[in-house]
Amino acid sequence: MQSFLPFHLPDLGEEEVESVVEVLRSGWLTTGSKTKQFEHEFAERVGATHAVAVNSCTAALHLALEAVEISAGDEIIVPTMTFAATAEVVSYCRAKPVLVDCRNDTLNINVDLLEKAITSKTKAIIPVHYAGQPCEMDRIMELARHHNLKVIEDAAHALPTRYRGRMIGTIGDITCFSFYATKTITTGEGGMATTENAEWADRMRILSLHGISRDAVNRYSPEGKWYYEICCPGFKYNLTDLASAVGIPQLQKCDLFGEIRHRYAALYNEGFKDIAAIRTPPVEEDIEHAWHLYVIQLELDQLRISRNEMIDHLKKHGIGTSVHFIPLHLHPYYKNTFGFVPDDFPTASRVFDRIISLPIYPKMTEADVHRVIDVTVALIREYRR
Ligand SMILES: *Cc1c(COP(=O)(O)O)cnc(C)c1O
Repeated sequence: MQSFLPFHLPDLGEEEVESVVEVLRSGWLTTGSKTKQFEHEFAERVGATHAVAVNSCTAALHLALEAVEISAGDEIIVPTMTFAATAEVVSYCRAKPVLVDCRNDTLNINVDLLEKAITSKTKAIIPVHYAGQPCEMDRIMELARHHNLKVIEDAAHALPTRYRGRMIGTIGDITCFSFYATKTITTGEGGMATTENAEWADRMRILSLHGISRDAVNRYSPEGKWYYEICCPGFKYNLTDLASAVGIPQLQKCDLFGEIRHRYAALYNEGFKDIAAIRTPPVEEDIEHAWHLYVIQLELDQLRISRNEMIDHLKKHGIGTSVHFIPLHLHPYYKNTFGFVPDDFPTASRVFDRIISLPIYPKMTEADVHRVIDVTVALIREYRR
């Protein structure tokens, strides 16, 4: 048998190795000039005015909610079809995550249902650009302005992504990116928040390092070295220069990586186009997809096996896959706390039984993509009803 094709492998080259070694030799390991440079280059790449580097997208989402002053009792709208982080940060602020079902095609938040979920307590919306396809941002921004809500985008999948000519990172009030090991670019662990609002950027920066004001350092201390002031109880969310040293060359390769993912998505679309039991991911008009994930839906009524059995067969044939996501409302915490049943979010519940994320990353070869197609198509033929 051929070697196992993992669901994901990061693409790290000599540039990253040399960059990290340079930081190690410099003696300055934590947040410093490399992180400044990474922030600057990231802001430039997405076209944002401010970028604040932190140690995860989860941290960025949390700081974003803190920056716009979300507090106890507020309601924050979150899609159920997402990762744990999107909703748990709402709980960090003692606010209430209000889940909303997804569309059955893009699996992004259903904006019609989003509108119905708005109450007098709603303070913010956290749209998630599922798989790297942007949400309907014009409608979301219009609703938000109309109801005076903040929009904090979970762009963990969405680098680089464009919506009607605008980069994700420049549309909502604050946008949060992830550099987790499996994301489109990586620093091992890391994240970034972008915004046009200088006050929110400052607040996130201060909160990211113990609530210590660096302005105070600059203002009150002639040497600017030892003096500091704590303005509020902050967090320990700063990104290290070691991580930023990986991020800088990764960011430079971001477009190249994106082109490869686009090419692989096109190969998958072509390979599955005549297979009725596989629904390929639809792409909306006037957007640029990041293709962080390539998620197929199985037409189960045409098959004699379940999604889980399909995943097992793919694994036996040496292909790693994943599922994005187990909707939040199906997890014990959300079931027990809010009393959810699957039918509360019928689309996400139904789709969850059908989705498989196939490998799509620059480190795999075109031959790997063809192998995934061949094995998948052969299995579909074997287990067709
Ligand atoms: C990965 C992911 C996150 C969390 O990113 P971290 O950098 O690991 O904190 C948040 N939201 C979504 C949708 C994700 O996929």
